[in-house]
Amino acid sequence: MKAVVLEKQHEIAVREVENDLVVGPGQLRIAPHTVGICGSDVHYYTHGRIGRYVVEAPMILGHEASGTVLEVGEGVEDFAVGDRVAMEPGVPDLSSRA
Ligand SMILES: [Zn+2]
Repeated sequence: MKAVVLEKQHEIAVREVENDLVVGPGQLRIAPHTVGICGSDVHYYTHGRIGRYVVEAPMILGHEASGTVLEVGEGVEDFAVGDRVAMEPGVPDLSSRA
């Protein structure tokens, strides 16, 4: 899939990224339709950091999005394939490499 990637401070690229993640229990796969670029994204671009969070590796920008649910993980009961959703992921999965 294509993504907007902050390669490093002051350098953004639109490029292909791997998307081989498996939908796990309690998770959804969502096809984004619209993605916002918020102040934190701009801050990472202009300053290369926000406080103690430093851009040390390429980072996909845009974490506030709307889209359609493509796949529902085990145990998910409140969403179904085809649902239109908006998201602002505020709880990171620290085991995720993405
Ligand atoms: Zn934000």
